[in-house]
Amino acid sequence: MPAFIVLLGPPGVGKGTQAKIIAAATGLPHVSSGDLFRENIKNETELGRLAQSYISKGELVPDDVTIGMIRDRISRPDCKSGALLDGFPRTTVQAAALENLLAEFGGKVDTVPYISASESTLVERLGGRWNCKAQGHVFHEKHNPPKQAGVCDFDGSELYQRDDDKAETVTRRIQVYFAQTAPLVAYYRERGRLSEIDGAQPIEKVTADLLAALKM
Ligand code: AMP
Repeated sequence: MPAFIVLLGPPGVGKGTQAKIIAAATGLPHVSSGDLFRENIKNETELGRLAQSYISKGELVPDDVTIGMIRDRISRPDCKSGALLDGFPRTTVQAAALENLLAEFGGKVDTVPYISASESTLVERLGGRWNCKAQGHVFHEKHNPPKQAGVCDFDGSELYQRDDDKAETVTRRIQVYFAQTAPLVAYYRERGRLSEIDGAQPIEKVTADLLAALKM
């Protein structure tokens, strides 16, 4: 049965970085709702324009729009054996919708690694974050600097700072996380799927803990 992994955790905890490493190690497709929205914004689609109005304020994009986008993505053939979900679900409505989608496709949510960190760690991480323009590879000016400033180690593309990583938006994103997404920790714990990981550790240690939690 196709097994979906839900990577849970606050913004800035390193979900995107870890998802790319784990996807490469396991061969599972990396499905990031944030990356899908950013792709739509870059391509100036209608969905992108709508999403941008929420993302720029640090708010969540409405559930129906987000669920529709993920439905399209996980219906593609590359997800037939499962996927690594990063940034979705973010509300209990989305988590329930995911159960329904997977029941329809004959899949299930397998493991939910929950990467946690203190609020001060998150603010510091988001403030120093740089992303590559081509594929969204993530760097941090202090904890994970690129070999050459402003250039992606993996594909040579230019690095930029996301608009929503600005101080005011970061504060709102963290508030939104605690109000709307943090309840998913209890949701998955009650269902026996949660596996807690300390996100304040070095990147390599978080990866090792993740692979152990995924039994890979
Ligand atoms: P991320 O790259 O995961 O930090 O996502 C960037 C932004 O996209 C978030 O701050 C939200 O505005 C929006 N977003 C991403 N995933 C979701 C989701 N599952 N539900 C609603 N909004 C989302």
